[in-house]
Amino acid sequence: MSDAGYDHATVERRWQEAWDDADVYRTPDDVEDPTYVLGMYPYPSGKLHMGHVRNYTITDAYARYRRMRGDDVLHPMGWDAFGLPAENAAKERDTNPRDWTIDCIETMTDQMESMGFGYDWDREITTCTPDYYQWNQWLFSRFHEEGLVERRDAEVNWCPHCETVLADEQVEGEAELCWRCDTPVEQRELEQWFLKITEYADELLEDIDDLEGWPNSVRQMQRNWIGRQEGTELEFGIDGYGDVEAFTTRVDTIHGATFFALAPDHPISEELAAEDADVRHFIEEEADPDGDEPNGVETGLTATNPVTGDEIPVYVADFVLSDVGTGALMAVPGHDERDHAFAEKHGIDIVPVIAPEPDGDEEPTAPDVAEGAYTEDGVLINSGEYDGLDSETARDRLTEDIDSAEWTEQYQLRDWGISRQRYWGTPIPVIHCDDCGPVMVPEEDLPVELPEFINTTGNPLDAAEEWKQTTCPDCGGDATRETDTMDTFVDSSWYFLRYVSPGLDEAPFDLAQANDWMPVDQYVGGIEHAVMHLLYSRFFTKVLADHEGLEHREPFTNLLAQGMVQLEGEKMSKSKGNVVSPQRIVEEYGADTARLFMMQAAQPERDFDWSEEGVRSTYAFLDRLKGMVEGYIADEPDGDDDAIASYVDAEIDATIAIASDEYDDLTFNKALRETQDLVRTLRQYAEYTDPHAETYERGLSAVVRLLSPVAPHLTEELYETLGNDGFVAEAAWPTAEVDRDYVAKRRRLVANTREDIRDIVEVAGIEDPNAIDVVIAPDWKYDALEIAIESDADNLIGELMQESHIRDQGDAAADYGQDLQAEREALSMTLEPEAEHAALESAAWLIEREFDAPVRVVRAEDADEDVLANAEPGRPAIEIDD
Ligand SMILES: [Zn+2]
Ligand SMILES: [Zn+2]
Repeated sequence: MSDAGYDHATVERRWQEAWDDADVYRTPDDVEDPTYVLGMYPYPSGKLHMGHVRNYTITDAYARYRRMRGDDVLHPMGWDAFGLPAENAAKERDTNPRDWTIDCIETMTDQMESMGFGYDWDREITTCTPDYYQWNQWLFSRFHEEGLVERRDAEVNWCPHCETVLADEQVEGEAELCWRCDTPVEQRELEQWFLKITEYADELLEDIDDLEGWPNSVRQMQRNWIGRQEGTELEFGIDGYGDVEAFTTRVDTIHGATFFALAPDHPISEELAAEDADVRHFIEEEADPDGDEPNGVETGLTATNPVTGDEIPVYVADFVLSDVGTGALMAVPGHDERDHAFAEKHGIDIVPVIAPEPDGDEEPTAPDVAEGAYTEDGVLINSGEYDGLDSETARDRLTEDIDSAEWTEQYQLRDWGISRQRYWGTPIPVIHCDDCGPVMVPEEDLPVELPEFINTTGNPLDAAEEWKQTTCPDCGGDATRETDTMDTFVDSSWYFLRYVSPGLDEAPFDLAQANDWMPVDQYVGGIEHAVMHLLYSRFFTKVLADHEGLEHREPFTNLLAQGMVQLEGEKMSKSKGNVVSPQRIVEEYGADTARLFMMQAAQPERDFDWSEEGVRSTYAFLDRLKGMVEGYIADEPDGDDDAIASYVDAEIDATIAIASDEYDDLTFNKALRETQDLVRTLRQYAEYTDPHAETYERGLSAVVRLLSPVAPHLTEELYETLGNDGFVAEAAWPTAEVDRDYVAKRRRLVANTREDIRDIVEVAGIEDPNAIDVVIAPDWKYDALEIAIESDADNLIGELMQESHIRDQGDAAADYGQDLQAEREALSMTLEPEAEHAALESAAWLIEREFDAPVRVVRAEDADEDVLANAEPGRPAIEIDD
């Protein structure tokens, strides 16, 4: 605890217990379509880190805000409890993953409660319990029935350190490192279970357009990941092997095709490998599809270019992937970087056949392709009858002219390999029988529960002999269980549906309830999940819509990807030792301070730097607010409902309206800045004069409510101090009708006027002003300003002089006209003269307070001519008597 300041520990504990006793955050099953607010559930790694705290403060603040707006809110929490780290931790600590995970969950639950996160803990889910993972198995069987599961041999990414297969998405960077341990990834061939997400490629891609509540960056990452390409499929004849299908997006470059390339596992490559030692050696030893450089081996075969009739050499090359396109391609070194690199290495011709679009009537000039490929579209050259066509037209023409060619689409998206050779995951519900092959475990035999953990270097399920031995559900003969478990992304692809009916034991989720409660209205989590989790969840939702009657095809209406909490510009990480522990912050300053500091520091999407000083000043702010509320109750003020009270009143309304809009947009930092400004205004009010009790209390009450989503504990305490019954968490959100444009103009006018006075005092060296006059501009200047804004005439002064009441001002009108002309681009409307007068009258106390001098706000008709010359709309003239 801090030396000075309020006893946050007592306050926070008190309200956490009170909320708990009153079930404030429970969502009964019978509410209709609640606002569903969800943070991506955490992996129970042991302790909450700052990233968790930020993620869950965002969802908690929004959930609390929606509840105060009168919504029923669903705000659950659960645990992404399977996964490799638990298995590794268990090995290190000589325990088992289950006990270790349960311990971590207990610790993190306590930490979440100490942060004041308002979850419906009755809906908690934990994916490593059979209650949950039986439904992963059930869904796997259902996907299988619908033809969406396949077992195939596959080259897999293998991490030798983790001894596991990794999804493509789990292999990071150019160096291709394991996402968990940074070990270089190798390739292995294994029989794997795949979920056929590619069947949904088109829908997953096209529906991205409708995800208007998602950040564009995430939408674009998903588009790129699916990677639909349009191109031409066409045949090249290879002597002895007939016509071979190839795919290209650039058939316009076909005259520059100087070699043909086959994937290492293309049927022709495999046939060749059987008889040709060089090809075999390359495929088995050298081919590295994920390597930086394209490698290959000459086959001695030639392929016939269907347009030119040229015979070009055929290579087996590792940059050709059998599962992309057709596993064969025409290579054009002049116009493709990778083909260029390969051609240089193997001394293959590099021929330019596309030139940049020439200017006007000039002839196209061939680009220099000796050093690098020219990859842009352009105009065809060295292409016979097609010379002079632009690339796009040439692609159409050639696709039409070549007999075997047709337009087609290709995808980057691969089917989702879910097999993992690890213990701590959902057992894949399959039994292998020598006679029947792989057989699904019948529904009545689910769940297939994990056996006790065995500490071995390999897969513990392989070592669980007794568990492994079973009988075949089809023929009753001896059989063995599948020892692979599922990728944990299966668990997270539907967990948001389980919260809807967490205890249900007949189905993964209650269909009617899900149809009513889904989709998630606001989802919040890290950008690192942009493709895997968020794409798989969309895939599962679409399958469930097609086959299980779910009436929603997208799981998350609005998505927020929160930024990082950094320390001195760097990501916090245990290995770098630059971690700020949430636990310490809570102990020292309280959860409210941690939450408020974090939310005011930056917009949720942005990264920001942790600052101990910022934390301290946030704590001081809360402490001062507490003092203000207690001071008000102890000694109720007795001031008049005067101009100052009306100023404060208007600020209260403005703050409520603006902060509410910002909460709607999840721009908490802006809502909090407004609220803190209001606190300052109230403090200045109380320091300056005896406040009008009703106005002052309304202000304090508004502040307490506006802060409560972010600083829930202290605001409960203050809500009670102000004499309210019940919880602020369940109180009504304050509302106010204001014209935001008017508020902005009024605030700008007051701020500009104070700024001008400050400048004059400083420039003139006035130490102690006796009196200050603030003089409103004459009406005709407002008319002139309006004309200047609306007019598009070149000669503004001429236009102004057509108005007789402006023309009558003589030189003054000409001078002001010139000013307006000079600033024409930047002009904006101000308040009307009377409204300016009223606004400055009610704000005059702020000026009097600052400069310790009486202030008069003077209308133009009551002012001297020479002073008026300096007064402009939005910028009154200042007269200081010293
Ligand atoms: Zn690894
Ligand atoms: Zn069998």
